[in-house]
Amino acid sequence: MTAPLLRLRDVAVEYGRGAARVRAVDGVDLDVRPGEILGLVGESGCGKSTLGRAATGLEPLARGTVEFLGRPVEPAGRRRRGADLRRLQMVFQDPYASLNPRRKVGELIADGVVLGGGRRADGLRRARELLERVGLPGDAVGSYPHEFSGGQRQRIAIARTLAADPACIVADEPISALDASAQAQVANLLSELVAEASLGMVFVSHDLSVVRQVAHRVAVMYLGRIVEIGDTATVWSDPRHPYTEALVAAIPRADGAGTLPVDLPGDVPDPAAPPSGCHFHPRCPLVQDRCRVQDPRLEPVAGRSAACLVRAPGSGNRAGAVPLTGPGRP
Ligand code: ADP
Ligand code: MG
Repeated sequence: MTAPLLRLRDVAVEYGRGAARVRAVDGVDLDVRPGEILGLVGESGCGKSTLGRAATGLEPLARGTVEFLGRPVEPAGRRRRGADLRRLQMVFQDPYASLNPRRKVGELIADGVVLGGGRRADGLRRARELLERVGLPGDAVGSYPHEFSGGQRQRIAIARTLAADPACIVADEPISALDASAQAQVANLLSELVAEASLGMVFVSHDLSVVRQVAHRVAVMYLGRIVEIGDTATVWSDPRHPYTEALVAAIPRADGAGTLPVDLPGDVPDPAAPPSGCHFHPRCPLVQDRCRVQDPRLEPVAGRSAACLVRAPGSGNRAGAVPLTGPGRP
């Protein structure tokens, strides 16, 4: 196996203090390898964006480590973003907010070339090449972002990201703000770019049908934790975590525009006061007594990993959880 580009171990991010403290990300392990798209899915508020920012050094960690190309990623606040991190890039949901409206497209992309260590003198030529690569005319260098549609603007943002010669891209809902036809086109473009340049990509989305199409592996998040992770085809055809099962069942209804329409009782719990035991137990159709006290870890089951005491029987305890013995134990 090739070495991962991006390696997260036990990553936790917290906001607030005392009773208001939220563990937005709580003990996540992830590897992203060259040529791979890792889909990251889960309901709004489960921590996808926070994890994406933590993975790119934009968020301080409460715990754990992030490595990019074998080197530790230090949060930007603690140290100036080093040259070694410029090949780790983020693409955001809103191409309106991420492109300075006062600069021409050619200048914006040339900024990316300079960010990637290239010469500004080469910037305009590179900008034309990159615009054509993302499916826009090279002449767009002379226009302003507002002259383009949302889908075209996201292509411009992608061209600027490519200008920095990235090895790994974290794309946070890169197609969610686009209309339906632009969504498919931009998703396909990202797939092609990953394949042709052996990039690694984390593709954050609540549109499960798109993730099914573009992601090689998928990680399912619930309340700051990954509850299932594995090859997309394996997870999608035979989900083992009951939460994944509810997501997969929701695919035909997913409109890609709003929150994920999962067919489960209740809402995502308050992350400042997560439920005891398995965080999913209050909404789980398979809940058993032990789920209220034992905290499942990701365990290998049927070719992927899942964190479910009922479905992934190898599940052990997290430190501090109450072990159950005797009747009721599988
Ligand atoms: P997602 O991207 O999956 O919708 P987020 O990562 O945005 O989820 O948010 C995860 C949790 O962290 C939510 O409860 C959210 O309210 C909280 N959160 C996110 N960003 C901040 C912040 N800057 N300050 C305080 N809480 C935050
Ligand atoms: Mg988000």
